[in-house]
Amino acid sequence: MRVTPPAYPVDDRLPRHPFERSLDDDKLREECGVFGVIGVAEAANFVALGLHALQHRGQEAGGIVSHDPATGFHTERRFGYVRDNFTKQSLMAHLPGSLSIGHVRYSTAGTKGTTQIRDVQPFFGEFSMGGAAIAHNGNITNADALRRELIDRGSIFQSQSDSECIIHLMARSLQRNIPERMKDALRRVEGAFSIVAMTRTKLIGVRDPLGVRPLMLGKVGSEKNGGWALASETCALDIIGAEFEREIKPGEMVVITKDGVESFWPFEKRNPRFCIFEHVYFSRPDSILGGQSVYTTRRQIGVELAREAPVDADLVCPVPDSGTPAAIGFAHESGIPFGMGIIRNQYMGRTFIEPTEQIRNMGVRLKLNVNRALIRGKRVILVDDSVVRGTTSRKIKEMILDAGAAEVHFRIASPPTAWPCFYGVDTPQREKLLAATMSEDEMCEHLAVDSLKFISLDGLYLAVGEARGRNATHPQYCDACFSGEYPVEPADMIEKGFELKAAE
Ligand code: SF4
Repeated sequence: MRVTPPAYPVDDRLPRHPFERSLDDDKLREECGVFGVIGVAEAANFVALGLHALQHRGQEAGGIVSHDPATGFHTERRFGYVRDNFTKQSLMAHLPGSLSIGHVRYSTAGTKGTTQIRDVQPFFGEFSMGGAAIAHNGNITNADALRRELIDRGSIFQSQSDSECIIHLMARSLQRNIPERMKDALRRVEGAFSIVAMTRTKLIGVRDPLGVRPLMLGKVGSEKNGGWALASETCALDIIGAEFEREIKPGEMVVITKDGVESFWPFEKRNPRFCIFEHVYFSRPDSILGGQSVYTTRRQIGVELAREAPVDADLVCPVPDSGTPAAIGFAHESGIPFGMGIIRNQYMGRTFIEPTEQIRNMGVRLKLNVNRALIRGKRVILVDDSVVRGTTSRKIKEMILDAGAAEVHFRIASPPTAWPCFYGVDTPQREKLLAATMSEDEMCEHLAVDSLKFISLDGLYLAVGEARGRNATHPQYCDACFSGEYPVEPADMIEKGFELKAAE
């Protein structure tokens, strides 16, 4: 159990095989997805499907808790993909009942490189008025300080996860029911969190006051006989045939029973700061955010990028899959033909979990292959969602040139990522972010491409706003990984030595 926080930076947070990570280390990664359902038979099966739809938000491990009035709470937690665990009837038979929540994770702030099954959510706690289980997406930025305080007062922690703090704070609350205890606990917590929780009879959903991470409400089945679902994204409601009702609002807590949905507002009101990177990359393109499809927003980002950074070329190619909608928008706006110059192998997964040296050297070629017939002799614009370390961008550029491209121009659908995220996204140490140490021109030289342009922060706000039919001005979103302006001070990381941006 880690009580004294290690010195910042820590960059060994991944228990996945290092080779698997190296193939994919040039992206920021969402760390969690949550799902919950109440009022339907065999609720855990719905949760398993919902988690499967949210697998892009976390592939390391998953867990499901269910409750059955006759037999009480049941928990199953496993490493690996949902499809490899929670499809087995022998396992799902252990999760009876009409109320269930689940969680997929990548890794959370307290569990870097040392994940054990006890760190996998949802967490369960037994209280005097009955048990409760909780799972969250995000990161509690004062978790270290809370943990020290709770340990000093006698709490015994079972995991390294920041979410466990909420269970201990609830256990210490003097309120007389679990939703009230949860409100008490959440008032002590800082950071970004979208929570699903359950008691014996209630499904609970909470978004932090800034609404940094998403949380959706859906109706399952008919108005009279159906139930309710909570999900990180609407794509997880679609898979179970649930009707999307609305987003849980920033600072809102919903308590759902068989009688319906009741709203509470446990936090002081603040201006929302939703994560703008959800629009760019994290969420699935078929999800709805802020009333608009993520696909449409990304396409509009490509349009804006083409307006800001035009270039004379023959072909617009996405870096698949996440660069595709922006590339379509770029091609449409510029009038330059769109083509799939790079093809992604969808089945890479963990195939080479113990790779030989020879396979290791193949690197990114195992995941991406160039469509040579399309590329040869062309001046190619590559559209990608982001550049983090620059390692993959460099390799892709080499592949494109090897295939006979005449020129390579990178266009990036987000501003330079120069700051780490402390709100539930896996980010390298700041020094390893290419944009933290280099200007745009220096990055262009480093990647050895003919040109490199990122969309500006203004352009990104404009594109997200235009896609939603209104103006979006600063600082309506969290954009800290681009601007260095953190809407919630990352207290634990400052204690570990992280330096905030100097005031201008
Ligand atoms: S720092 Fe970046 S990735 Fe993190 S919540 Fe803010 S915008 Fe999203």
